[in-house]
Amino acid sequence: MAGIPSNTSSSSSIASNLVRVRERIANACNLYGRPLSDVRLIAISKKHPVESIRAAIDAGQLDFGENQVQEALGKIPEVEIPGVQWHYIGPLQSNKAKHLPGNFHWWHTLNRLDIATRVSSKAVELGTRVETLIQVNVVNDPAKSGVSSSGLSPLIAQLLEAGLGGLDLRGLMTIGPHGGSEDELRQCFGSLRELMETTRDQFGLENFDQLSMGMTDDMEQAIGEGATMVRVGSAIFGSR
Ligand SMILES: *Cc1c(COP(=O)(O)O)cnc(C)c1O
Repeated sequence: MAGIPSNTSSSSSIASNLVRVRERIANACNLYGRPLSDVRLIAISKKHPVESIRAAIDAGQLDFGENQVQEALGKIPEVEIPGVQWHYIGPLQSNKAKHLPGNFHWWHTLNRLDIATRVSSKAVELGTRVETLIQVNVVNDPAKSGVSSSGLSPLIAQLLEAGLGGLDLRGLMTIGPHGGSEDELRQCFGSLRELMETTRDQFGLENFDQLSMGMTDDMEQAIGEGATMVRVGSAIFGSR
């Protein structure tokens, strides 16, 4: 594991970084004719210390994302503040699945039935539910996880068949092509939106309306294509 990051921003710069990120989101909403309230900012705090998370909370940020269970479980109890919601955005091993319910409100990276079954069982046991997004590997990048575009419908069929009472299926998530051109990014994010609409209609899913897409380098393109959640790390907390 990496040590304490040395590039972590100070509290005051986290506050001003947040102002700038919110401005970018507002400008993009303006440009693409979307209401600001449609886009939720998830601050990705992976590899940054609890003090940075507290600084962001002080600056009004409430949604946070982590991509490693162990790391997140060390931080979450340190910032038990009403209104704070945690999002799990990383790959999930089946032996860690039981840690999501009760700690995370949102799970962005469902891609396998067996792991979904484990998360759901634990949620049912705890009497809670996890708002869940399916990760789609739109650009078929072998380095990325997620179900393929063509595998999405079969996976949803399996999930519905299994009747997972601990999960609320809320939409889709993707990671845009790293260093992609404007066109490539728009195409990737636009495809995710179309997939969301077609599967929602195909299966008659209620509340299947969330699109988690866009990060520090491509949030504008994602907002242009309908993102409802942008996952922003380095523009808020500094480099990792
Ligand atoms: C790290 C991470 C982010 C944030 O990336 P930045 O480029 O730092 O904004 C977003 N989504 C996922 C899945 C990540 O792992």
